[in-house]
Amino acid sequence: MPAMLPYGRQYIDDADVAAVADVLRGDWLTTGPAVEAFEAAFARAVDAPHVVACNSGTAALHLAMLALGLGPGDVALVPAITFMATANAARYVGADVAFVDVDPQTGLATPAHFADAIARAGGRARAMLPVHYAGRCAGPAELADLAARHGLSVVEDACHALGSFYGDGIPVGAARHAAMCTFSFHPVKTIAMGEGGAVTTRDPALAEKLRRLRSHGIERRPEAFFDTAAATAADGGVNPWYHELHEPGFNYRASDINCALGRSQLAKLPAFAAERRRLAALYDRSIASLAPVVRPLAPVAGCDPALHLYVVRIDFAALGTDRAAVMRALAANGVGTQVHYIPVDRQPYYRRLYGATPLPGAAVFYDSCLSLPLYYGMTDADVGRVVDALRTVARG
Ligand SMILES: *Cc1c(COP(=O)(O)O)cnc(C)c1O
Repeated sequence: MPAMLPYGRQYIDDADVAAVADVLRGDWLTTGPAVEAFEAAFARAVDAPHVVACNSGTAALHLAMLALGLGPGDVALVPAITFMATANAARYVGADVAFVDVDPQTGLATPAHFADAIARAGGRARAMLPVHYAGRCAGPAELADLAARHGLSVVEDACHALGSFYGDGIPVGAARHAAMCTFSFHPVKTIAMGEGGAVTTRDPALAEKLRRLRSHGIERRPEAFFDTAAATAADGGVNPWYHELHEPGFNYRASDINCALGRSQLAKLPAFAAERRRLAALYDRSIASLAPVVRPLAPVAGCDPALHLYVVRIDFAALGTDRAAVMRALAANGVGTQVHYIPVDRQPYYRRLYGATPLPGAAVFYDSCLSLPLYYGMTDADVGRVVDALRTVARG
């Protein structure tokens, strides 16, 4: 049997290894210059003035919820088709989650779906967390309009969408239509940091708050001190050791080791993104002959995605089989697949909290979706192997 093609994986080259080795031989394993260098490089890559690196995409989402000041009594609107961390982040700060339905053709929550969830939240909605599912943009400008009309903040979960553009060439992560955007650099994502994440924003006050909460909540700005007597030395200067805690934060710092890898990976982002676009186009052409039983996701207007996932929708009933059998048959041919995602509202934890929410689009999407292998370093022959295996399965 040929080597298994996973649904996603990292691509590490000698430059990445050298960048990490340099940090290991240097003075700073954490809180050093590699963190700032990564943040500066990421700011350039997504055209955002402020980037706060952290140690996972989940930490990025949690920091964003904290920075918004979300808490008990508030509701965050989260698409049902996402990784569970998007919803969990709201729960970490004691806010409730209202799950948002998605378009079954794309897996994306549209402004109409968010509007429906705002109505269900009965005046408690405070934040929208659109997810750029698979790397395709969930209409940031339209969502920002809707949020403004209802006085809501927007945090884009951009974990899938590094390298994607929307509208007039706006990079996802520029935060032009959101208070903040969050990213993950888990190895299956578009760039790898081992574990890592980032929040981007255009708001300097939010950036300052994110940085403070990332490192325990420690306040070092003299102008913010409460206890000026304790802060002040006999000569009137600020005591050099002095700092204050006003609100507990976390240790969500990214290390220099991880950030050196992230920066080295970021140098390859143009190549990574171009290859993901090329492989996706090759898939689109190659699976066209399998329609209507196997179909790509419907195109999204105004979005130029660098896909994180290549998701197809399969009519399993028409095949006279089910998804488990198809996944096993593909695995037997060396093709790894995955399901993104079980609608998060169906998780027993959320069912216990909120009961069943009727989300028909998410149900249809979930029943038909399957993620095929997509990563930098895949060959055209690999794509051919995946499509041949699918064709064999589709013929029964
Ligand atoms: C990966 C991912 C996360 C979480 O990122 P981690 O770095 O694994 O914590 C959050 N949201 C989405 C949509 C993701 O794909």
